[in-house]
Amino acid sequence: MYEIRFHGRGGQGGRMAAEALALAAFLEGKYAVSFPFFGAERRGAPVRAFTRIDDKKIRIKTQIYEPDYVVVLDETLIETEDVLEGLKPDGMVIINTQKKPEEVKLSRSVRCATIDATTIALETIGRAITNTAILGAISRATGKIGIDAIEKAIIEKFGARLGKEAGEKNAIAARKAYEKTIVGIAKAGKKFEGKKQWLPTVDELPLGGSIGTLQTEAGLVGIGSFSENKTGGWRVFMPVVDEQRCTGCKICWFYCPEGAIKMVDNKAKINYDYCKGCGICENECPFKAIEMKREVRI
Ligand code: SF4
Ligand code: SF4
Repeated sequence: MYEIRFHGRGGQGGRMAAEALALAAFLEGKYAVSFPFFGAERRGAPVRAFTRIDDKKIRIKTQIYEPDYVVVLDETLIETEDVLEGLKPDGMVIINTQKKPEEVKLSRSVRCATIDATTIALETIGRAITNTAILGAISRATGKIGIDAIEKAIIEKFGARLGKEAGEKNAIAARKAYEKTIVGIAKAGKKFEGKKQWLPTVDELPLGGSIGTLQTEAGLVGIGSFSENKTGGWRVFMPVVDEQRCTGCKICWFYCPEGAIKMVDNKAKINYDYCKGCGICENECPFKAIEMKREVRI
């Protein structure tokens, strides 16, 4: 099996490229699957698409984390994210750029193929949509799939959607890219800042009862002023943390609507003065470290 991960932006046709590549493999008698991954963003947001190709049936359904090939439809993406993340040591990156491979700087030195797919697309189909030209580059750079199958897949897939003439023009774009692709080695040395964790720190997001009250001449004010109202009194079920299971992931802390969970020594501690017993923490804990138990009040 070999796996290809496409990096593009919404509207650039990365998903169609991944699907057309799978179709080309199928036309050569192989098994292939492809699927995209994108969030709620609109055009221009980074998106990924994946293609798996094998001689046998493919049963893996996950995203591709350790690809054999990475394809970059939009050169600007290599400035903002490490597209080589997870790429196998002997893998290859194929980039739409006017640069030669040795002029491309990435996080590590790697086999690299470059193609000016944007110019080819503009000259051949009249639009800067590079998803078909890049397929020709994939054929040339990887040697895994024939350009004839690529052309047939493009005519079938894009022709069905855009019309016969447009399908044929896109196939010509792929053939031109196949002929102009340059293969070499990209330079190492580009640094990327680590991605910020999506969970904020305690200091960044103080919630409800997790912060102290503010005493002024007028009395208690601010978010913490409700601390005088011990709202935990209406609880029927209480969350109980199993410290052996608690990994300190802070998911419960983040989701608790009352701010009734503090992290102490990397373990979740419930403040029962304010916990309303809603059970959200039990529901959200990925490690089953919280159990809601009927409360016995004496
Ligand atoms: S979500 Fe579960 S594992 Fe994570 S901190 Fe809370 S109790 Fe611990
Ligand atoms: S039961 Fe609800 S209020 Fe109590 S700690 Fe869990 S999430 Fe917070």
